[in-house]
Amino acid sequence: MSEDSYEIFAVRYGHHKRKAAENYIGGDPHDVLQPLDYFVWAIVGPAQTFVVDTGFDEIVGARRKREMVTPVRKGLEAIGVDPDKVENVIVSHMHFDHCGNFDLFPRARYHLQDREMTYCTGRCMCHAQLRNSYEEDYVVAMVRKVFAGRVAFHDGSDEIAPGVSVHHIGGHAKGLQCVRVKTRRGYVVLASDATHLYTHMEQSRVFPTTYNLEEVLEGYAKLKKLASSPAHVVPGHDPEVLKRYPAAKAGLEGWIVRLDAEPKA
Ligand SMILES: [Zn+2]
Ligand SMILES: [Zn+2]
Repeated sequence: MSEDSYEIFAVRYGHHKRKAAENYIGGDPHDVLQPLDYFVWAIVGPAQTFVVDTGFDEIVGARRKREMVTPVRKGLEAIGVDPDKVENVIVSHMHFDHCGNFDLFPRARYHLQDREMTYCTGRCMCHAQLRNSYEEDYVVAMVRKVFAGRVAFHDGSDEIAPGVSVHHIGGHAKGLQCVRVKTRRGYVVLASDATHLYTHMEQSRVFPTTYNLEEVLEGYAKLKKLASSPAHVVPGHDPEVLKRYPAAKAGLEGWIVRLDAEPKA
């Protein structure tokens, strides 16, 4: 593995049974289930490991009726990532399912877009509909990290390390960012909630939680431009990801997959 080429793991920790109509503005004509999976991601290079997003914890998951399948710590440990040693965590955005477990990485610096912190601590949170996806304690924990000097702010596109960069997308949340990673198969883009499911990007449809519709739709083009091909874009909540990519190792099927590997035909 060269210095600027990485392995990427998608680690599933949660699940939510829901109907297809709940996943799209304008609903869906099919009366079928279309569940969401919840992931964190690990970007593992020869020199260092980056974790993307930190998931929700059991208490918040239960209150919001999301199933905790396997705690985030357990998933990371299964691939040899020790949360106590992780030095950099990239937070795609501050929604509850992406920034909980805030004590899990005691040594880490957190990478966040300026606009997301402004959004989740400012006037938009006066509106119930906009603050609904944010967890007050998680936001406060990030504010405390700012005061502890543990947050690195980014504005638009920025390089975190050679081969790892963040890019502002917005749309779903004001400061949502995706992560572009150099791998053995080219540039993979971890879209997070810039496309929840493959169908959002492929069919230009939009998830109901939205701050700016134009940015969501323009964001699909941006994801494809950043990735080596559309097949290099990894959605943030699609159970299909676990089927398309090979397990990280035997025994981890349906739990942890390798995104730097070629997808199965
Ligand atoms: Zn979100
Ligand atoms: Zn999400």
